[in-house]
Amino acid sequence: MPSLLTDFLRQAGGTAVIDGGLATELERHGADLNDPLWSAKCLLASPHLIRDVHLDYLENGADILITASYQATIQGFRAKGHSTEESEALLKKSVEIALEARRIYYERCAACSSGDEHDGKIFKQRRILVAASVGSYGAYLADGSEYSGDYGDSITLETLKDFHRRRVQILADSGADLIAFETVPNKLEAQAYAELLEEENIKIPAWFSFNSKDGINVVSGDPLAECGSIAESCKGVIAVGINCTPPRFIHGLILSLKKVTTKPIVIYPNSGESYDGDKKEWVENTGVSNEDFVSYVNKWCEVGACLVGGCCRTTPHTIRGIYRTLSRRSATPAAE
Ligand SMILES: [Zn+2]
Repeated sequence: MPSLLTDFLRQAGGTAVIDGGLATELERHGADLNDPLWSAKCLLASPHLIRDVHLDYLENGADILITASYQATIQGFRAKGHSTEESEALLKKSVEIALEARRIYYERCAACSSGDEHDGKIFKQRRILVAASVGSYGAYLADGSEYSGDYGDSITLETLKDFHRRRVQILADSGADLIAFETVPNKLEAQAYAELLEEENIKIPAWFSFNSKDGINVVSGDPLAECGSIAESCKGVIAVGINCTPPRFIHGLILSLKKVTTKPIVIYPNSGESYDGDKKEWVENTGVSNEDFVSYVNKWCEVGACLVGGCCRTTPHTIRGIYRTLSRRSATPAAE
């Protein structure tokens, strides 16, 4: 199992590009996401928009697509009146859309005879991975608890395992290359994922990606080192990292993770803008510029990041910048 990323990274030149924010881009393409299901709402209403955003990211240099299933849960769809069968089909659909985007992109690359770039788009023949997104229990609650990690005392390890079990089984059989457990806000949920991967004998690998709001601990206050250790000791986990966290915290968080894991480090920060949990919206222009975001990338790679992309409020423009930076890195022989 560990060979998936090892081979992939070797072919990619040591580092690879993950895609960027989905929700903001869907809105830019005209989707209305004002709903507890958030981007998952588009699985029902406008799957073509999701496919277009995936294609946009591939044409800006992403090597890994993350599916639109972050907030797609069987429980959430059922609450909207869907049957269990329909809910499970919607989960599979999130992966099918990404696979379709990849197929179209491979065709475009094959048809493009004018080198790696054409019409401002990147058509470089390369291996693309599809990562099935699993958001935390807090993402399903849609009450901001994925940014506090505080689920209250009534939520136990077993509750979390039962909550995620069926979704993880379905995504594992969906044709995705791996599962991205994203925005993991506390140690308990990391433990639940690790146990699920083993108990259910999940056949595709996974990455665990935590979020932090102080640059030291994960958002619940649990030490990042303890969370990272859970990922390190789970054999189904092939990469560990940080997402949806301001860029300024990333360097220190990578150093903390490196103390507890030898697995590849995955990094996809948000734009650094602040999120207003009451209004449920991002506060515009409170983040770092695209140029500043991209200028961090080399430093992250120097300390060990090898998969880099963007989370909320990052755009195809951000991903293009990361692609350029990483291409230059792999073209320059390492100094050390
Ligand atoms: Zn995010």
